[in-house]
Amino acid sequence: MSAPVNSVPLLDVGRANGPLREEFLEALGRVIDSGRFFFGPDVEELEREVAGYSQAAHGVGCASGSDALLLALMALSIGPGDEVIVPSFTFFASVSCITRLGATPVFVDIRPDTFNVDVDALESAISPKTKAIIPVHLFGQCAEIDRICQIGGEHDIPVIEDAAQAIGAAYHSRPAGSWGTVGCFSFYPTKNLGGMGDGGMMTTGDPAMADRLRLLASHGMRPRYHHQLVGINSRLDSFQAAVLRIKMKHLAAGVEARQRNASRYARMFSDAGLVAGDLITLPHRDPAAFHVWNQYTIRVAGGRRDELKAHLAEQSVGSEIYYPIPMHQQKCFDNFRVAGSGLAQTEAAAAEVLNLPIYPELRVDEQSRVVEAIGQYFARANRVAA
Ligand SMILES: *Cc1c(COP(=O)(O)O)cnc(C)c1O
Repeated sequence: MSAPVNSVPLLDVGRANGPLREEFLEALGRVIDSGRFFFGPDVEELEREVAGYSQAAHGVGCASGSDALLLALMALSIGPGDEVIVPSFTFFASVSCITRLGATPVFVDIRPDTFNVDVDALESAISPKTKAIIPVHLFGQCAEIDRICQIGGEHDIPVIEDAAQAIGAAYHSRPAGSWGTVGCFSFYPTKNLGGMGDGGMMTTGDPAMADRLRLLASHGMRPRYHHQLVGINSRLDSFQAAVLRIKMKHLAAGVEARQRNASRYARMFSDAGLVAGDLITLPHRDPAAFHVWNQYTIRVAGGRRDELKAHLAEQSVGSEIYYPIPMHQQKCFDNFRVAGSGLAQTEAAAAEVLNLPIYPELRVDEQSRVVEAIGQYFARANRVAA
């Protein structure tokens, strides 16, 4: 199906994958011929490459970012009676890994500017039962991971980085996935290093932890048919690894293009007069963060977000809401505790955020169309209001 003329999709993975088609086919052909569909050389190489890129000593492949988080908590022996601190404004998998093990998520609020966890709220949520902290590097920008790891260290609580959206991101020049006890990455197709199916990886600086993660990801089996632990089956397959190694070569250039697009949006929105009137709030860059812009997230106040989104859809401009319902309001997490001062910023963000196209191959004329369509909406809305 071809898109309507002039449409600007929220994401078009074909633009990155298309030009690499022949290279992919050749690499996939090699995997077919090798007959090694798991634990092959591509998986091992990718583990080394992602670990190197993230300045972590070890990388351990697994089947998804969701599994990476689950395996990290399993490796820490998290279970019933344990509490794990996590922001409520995140994707489901940051929380389900906790409840699946019978542990209790303690939801904390976010900062209104970066959408990342509020570190003061996080610190006050610590109790004697706290057994892990899961900061999420949301939208490609690191949480204040230096302070978070310092607090974790003071209380002897391990930090598991949910870096699913943040491969290549850094804080004070130190990469995501190198700070915590374990860093968790996803290769879901919409992520900055996106495969053609599911895939994930865990990074760690601790060889014993790497070994335990690897054991848990293969049924706790070592040697064959001798099970040391009750693990799960979570493998990164050689086809994904072969594809991802090719895409890895283009990751840094993709990040630069995303950063250029973000700066260009800032100029365009400002030139269009959309920033001055507080009609929209552009994403905030923490000066200590190297932002890799997996998402470009604006805020639309005054209850106009959904109307703006509908207007953009009419204009064939893709946009999405990440995330419309915070985790503490999900039916399946009904019975869990909200830390101290509540989640006002989380609920406000869920009502106001809107994600716009930011992928590396987005063209300048397409960005203009996005900005124009938003300007059009406010021009009309303000006429109606006047
Ligand atoms: C994508 C994502 C995950 C899960 O990754 P999958 O590979 O899809 O399982 C976890 N946390 C966050 C914040 C994500 O964006």
